[in-house]
Formats: sequence, structure tokens, C-alpha cells
Amino acid sequence: MLKTLVRVVRPYLVGVKHLFMTPVTVKYPYEKIVNVTGENFRYDPKAGIAYPGFKGRHVLYLNKCTGCSLCDIACQNISEAITMVYGFNVTLEFDKGLYEAFRRGDREAVEFFEAVVESLSPAKPGGITLSAGHPIVPVNWSDIRAVKQKDENTYEWRLNMEPLYEYRSEAVLEKYLIHFLHWLRENGWEDKIVTVEGADKEDEFHEITKGSYKARLSITKIAENYPQNKKSYFPAVDYGRCVFCGFCVDACPFYALEMSPEYELSAYDRASLVYNPKMLAGPPITKPPSELGWFERLHMILKELTEIR
Ligand code: SF4
Ligand code: SF4
Repeated sequence: MLKTLVRVVRPYLVGVKHLFMTPVTVKYPYEKIVNVTGENFRYDPKAGIAYPGFKGRHVLYLNKCTGCSLCDIACQNISEAITMVYGFNVTLEFDKGLYEAFRRGDREAVEFFEAVVESLSPAKPGGITLSAGHPIVPVNWSDIRAVKQKDENTYEWRLNMEPLYEYRSEAVLEKYLIHFLHWLRENGWEDKIVTVEGADKEDEFHEITKGSYKARLSITKIAENYPQNKKSYFPAVDYGRCVFCGFCVDACPFYALEMSPEYELSAYDRASLVYNPKMLAGPPITKPPSELGWFERLHMILKELTEIR
């Protein structure tokens, strides 16, 4: 009889005991994980020592990175998350005759500009995964209002609003301009790759002609002007593949790469997980979520004060 009573009462006592215990769970995202160290994970190649720190989002110091690719090589046997990239601009130049024909509404000229706009539509590349496994990052393209007169006979249209980060100019063509090049061929335009004196070896130029109409498509590398990195060649990280092992940080001989405590990297699409060099160079975001109410903030402060780290 007594044994049965103990069996009945014991679970209730256990339940009551838990009411007075400090919870081990955190109300993420309203509460942050308290045992995350605020230090960056970093490696000192001279001393051969790795300093303890949280392995979250990378921090790239553009003024130290030499573009040596050792981080990329280190990652190749892990997850191929790093791609060494250049920044590119895409510009379309065309002669006065083509632009005036477009403004007059001549069918051929209008169709040419319509093909450019349609080819660059953000809906085209977004979210597609190439065989290399990295998604195509959607780009903000400028519209026809960005056309400027370059000289008396030439007009210029800078197509991209932000730099395009790719490992070579052909990748820019393949990912973003392939529909336009197909359209040119299907509609009787001639497209010829030409060399331009003094251009960078990564640049690519296409001479586009039909009858008296002339245009030039230029994919040109952006010079970042860092003296230690004359090629302007930097790593980009695809967080859809990164396993946060830190091998790339260990491999960097120039103190240019660290990993920060920023761990909130989730996104609604794969393309948003690709961080270009400028994004990696930005300061990590560690502030609490804006939706945190006063009660949760107070609770967090009290918890931080009482918690033994
Ligand atoms: S931390 Fe990520 S990017 Fe660096 S080596 Fe590991 S998987 Fe590659
Ligand atoms: S981050 Fe370091 S390892 Fe990677 S390219 Fe730059 S200098 Fe080389």
C-alpha cells in the first residue's frame, strides 16, 4: 500500500522540483546563447597557434588578403565553399545611330534593347544551381534611364548596380548574359570577341553589329587598389556548403581571415547564403533581434549577470 502511494506521489514531486530549477533551454531567437565566446576564431601562422573563438561567419580583412588562394585550396577537400573571385562591371556601349533609332521606335533597335532588359531580368538567374553547386546570385540591374552620353557619337549603359563577383568574366556571361547572346544570334546580329589594348587579361569585350548598328558589350574587372593584392582577387564563401571547420583560417598565412561569433546566417533562399568579399569584410552582426520586448531584455540581462560562463 505504502509502496503504491510512493509510486503515485514521486512523479508529482519530480514535477514540482522542476518548477524551481533554472531552465537549460534558451528562447531563441529572443534569447541569445550565453556560452558563445565573443572572440573571433583566429590563427597565428608565425607562432603556429590557433586562438579559441567561435567559428561563425568569416571576417575578411581586405587590406591583408593577397589573393593567394590558400584558403580556397584548404576548403577544396572539405566542402568547396570558397571561390576566389574578381569584381566585374558589365557595360553596354552603343553608337548614336542605334540609340536614336531606339528613341524613334525603330523595330530592330527597340527589340535589341528589349532583349537586353529581358535577358537581365532578376527572375532569370535567381536560385538556379549550376553543376559546380553554387547558386546564381540575383543582381540588381539598372534600367534604360542609366544610359549616359559618353562622347559625341557614343552612349554608355552600366548594366550592374553593384559589382558582380565571379571567378572569371566568362562566368558572368554564362550566368547572366547567355539569353542575350542567344537572342543576338537568333536575330541576325553578329557577335565577335575582340581584344582591347591596355585591358586587363580578365576583361572580355564583344563587338555586336547588324547593318549600320554597332554596340560593344564589356565585362571589365574592378581594380580594388589594395597594394598587397594587385589582382584584386578575394575569397567568397557559400554558407550553403560551409561546415564551419576553420581550416581556411588555419591556412591563411597573412592574418587576413578570421571567424566571428556571428552565427545567425539563415536565409530564405540559397543565393542569399553566398557572401562576396565585401560582405565578408563587413562587421559581424551581433545585436539582439529588434522584436525583443522589455521583459525579455530584462530577463536576458539578469540571466547574463547570474549565469556562470
Ligand atoms: S570553415 Fe567553411 S569555408 Fe572554411 S574550410 Fe571549413 S568549410 Fe571551407
Ligand atoms: S584570405 Fe588569406 S589564404 Fe585566402 S586568399 Fe586571402 S591571404 Fe590567401
